Amino acid sequence: MSLTGEQRQRYARHLALPEIGEAGQEKLLHSKVLVIGAGGLGSPVAFYLAAAGVGTIGLMDGDTVDLSNLQRQILHTTASVGANKTESARARLVALDPSLSIRCYPFHLSSDNAPEILAGYDFIIDATDNFDSKFLIARACHEASKPWSHAGIGNFHGQTMTIIPGQTACYRCVFHEDGAPVGGTPQGPIGALPGVIGSIQALEAIKHLLGIGTLLTDALLTFDALTMSFRKVAVRRDAGCGVCRGGIDAGD
Ligand SMILES: [Zn+2]
Repeated sequence: MSLTGEQRQRYARHLALPEIGEAGQEKLLHSKVLVIGAGGLGSPVAFYLAAAGVGTIGLMDGDTVDLSNLQRQILHTTASVGANKTESARARLVALDPSLSIRCYPFHLSSDNAPEILAGYDFIIDATDNFDSKFLIARACHEASKPWSHAGIGNFHGQTMTIIPGQTACYRCVFHEDGAPVGGTPQGPIGALPGVIGSIQALEAIKHLLGIGTLLTDALLTFDALTMSFRKVAVRRDAGCGVCRGGIDAGD
């Protein structure tokens, strides 16, 4: 398969990059990424994946658009208040590029539906806003051997890391379920924050799909918007990890 004239024009800046070129763009067009959560983080991730020409994008979210979401969830519009978030998001992504395949899953991930859904994707994005979902994604991606990007955001801070199951530290290696912060819904985040962190997730997915660069693995990148500081902290696999057992999986 080769690119159409329209695609050559649309992706001209990718084609000009030796690291991508026509072969890389075709790879992206044949790639499938699942974005779990079509809110603050999911908005920039899905927008940039679609713009980059990732040919199939899955959107999973059981929530509807609320007016208070629009301060940061840029996939949605005033007109879509009350609509399911995946349907609202699909309308925006199709407007960006009608040739993309956008699959909607208007419900939340569960341990029951995860195996079948994840099996259809090359890379998974954790764009959720709660710890239960993140640990569920960690388990599901490990069991399905799917590479994925974790991210979380708070009032003025964010964090992200990329996980290659069986090879690099997983989310559960770094964050323990009994150590998850309590206290309910955060008050933020400030509006533009998910754009910073979500864009990094989209870049990680694109790099993985293209097989270029160095992924944000075995490291946690943290961001503080108030001081405008990024910190990259090395993390290690945990031999006692309840998800990946730190690579010690023979025999038991
Ligand atoms: Zn682990």
